[in-house]
Amino acid sequence: MSGSVLLPGAIGLNGDGQPTTLGVMGGGQLGRMFVQAAQIMGYFTVVLDPDVISPAGLVSHHHIQTDYLDPQGLVQLMQRCAAITTEFENVPAGALVTLGAARPTAPSADAVAIAQDRIQEKAHLARSGVPVAPYAVIESAADLAAVADDLLPGILKTARLGYDGKGQVRVGTRAELAAAWKALKGVPCVLEKMLPLAAECSVIVARGWTGECVHFAPQRNLHRQGILAVTQAYEENMPLALSQQAVVAAKKIAEELHYVGVLCVEFFVLTEGSPERASLGALVVNEMAPRPHNSGHYTLDACDLSQFDLQVRTLAGLPLVQPRQHSAAVMLNLLGDLWVNGVTPRWDAVLALPGVHLHLYGKLQANKGRKMGHLTVTAASAVQANAIALQAASLLGIEAF
Ligand code: ADP
Ligand code: MG
Repeated sequence: MSGSVLLPGAIGLNGDGQPTTLGVMGGGQLGRMFVQAAQIMGYFTVVLDPDVISPAGLVSHHHIQTDYLDPQGLVQLMQRCAAITTEFENVPAGALVTLGAARPTAPSADAVAIAQDRIQEKAHLARSGVPVAPYAVIESAADLAAVADDLLPGILKTARLGYDGKGQVRVGTRAELAAAWKALKGVPCVLEKMLPLAAECSVIVARGWTGECVHFAPQRNLHRQGILAVTQAYEENMPLALSQQAVVAAKKIAEELHYVGVLCVEFFVLTEGSPERASLGALVVNEMAPRPHNSGHYTLDACDLSQFDLQVRTLAGLPLVQPRQHSAAVMLNLLGDLWVNGVTPRWDAVLALPGVHLHLYGKLQANKGRKMGHLTVTAASAVQANAIALQAASLLGIEAF
């Protein structure tokens, strides 16, 4: 179903005496920040997630605690909600098909199904006008044998269910490639040529039911061990021509997918003087996420509309206006590693610095590599934002960037 305007605070839309209610599949931190943005505007919220203590379930008006494909859970969600979104790209597309038949559901099952599968995703990204990394699909022993030598060294990535660098193995030789595919249990994979990266960036766009599309300027991202560590968001972070090219490509991708909702597209900037840059150009599109993205969390504190506000607006059919950034921002991810021996980091020390915004997601267990929260530093200039973020990093034991 496509969307109509769902005004917040309209009472009894679903005949239950409750104000307009928006639903989200998945109860992680992205769902939590969606729920919080929706609630500020006056919507009631429902989260569907099997976890009893999911970050979003803890702050939502309602929490349906079932599996994503549980028919009764889905019926309850449809009964309570005027429209439904997702926060997690591995929500089974089948569940979104069911929901989409009865309620406006954005993004659509089709768009999510494409983003869930690196093989389909690559084919779509290749139409953006920006190249993808040279790659081969590996689904059989014959595909493995046919891999061209110049894809090595490369990264073998499972076609499905990878995130934060999981489901990826770096391989230098054909023997390592064969061993890695075996270790990944022979599931369908993509082998990508390892590219020389000068930088990584991402662009977040929001597209409405009638095709209007707004965007945030590209943010520059630093990954460590395959996990986002730092995002720098200010004008000087990228050459202007590359920024413009990335925004045009991200909008084209959203358009081609008839996408509704918030979409993030990740890019590589290749090293100057490298043969790869000579053949592919400076900008290569990496992957997309059919939802708000970790690299857009700074928008909560540095922009007049956040990526979650725009997710609410797209879902509810409300006007999309171009967001404006009012401060330079640097975001640091707060991983479970910071809780050394279970000891809470000294937030009081970092909160003494000017322009620090702390966001913790309410997770009760601090495992290594787990995203527990993030911290955004806003400042009048990029130089100041970086200086204070470096001080915060040093106080918390995060490696300098
Ligand atoms: P995930 O789904 O885990 O985010 P990505 O495909 O984005 O997977 O890979 C995670 C990170 O690994 C990237 O952000 C980048 O730092 C590095 N990486 C991935 N593919 C390549 C590549 N082809 N060349 C160089 N680095 C890469
Ligand atoms: Mg990625």
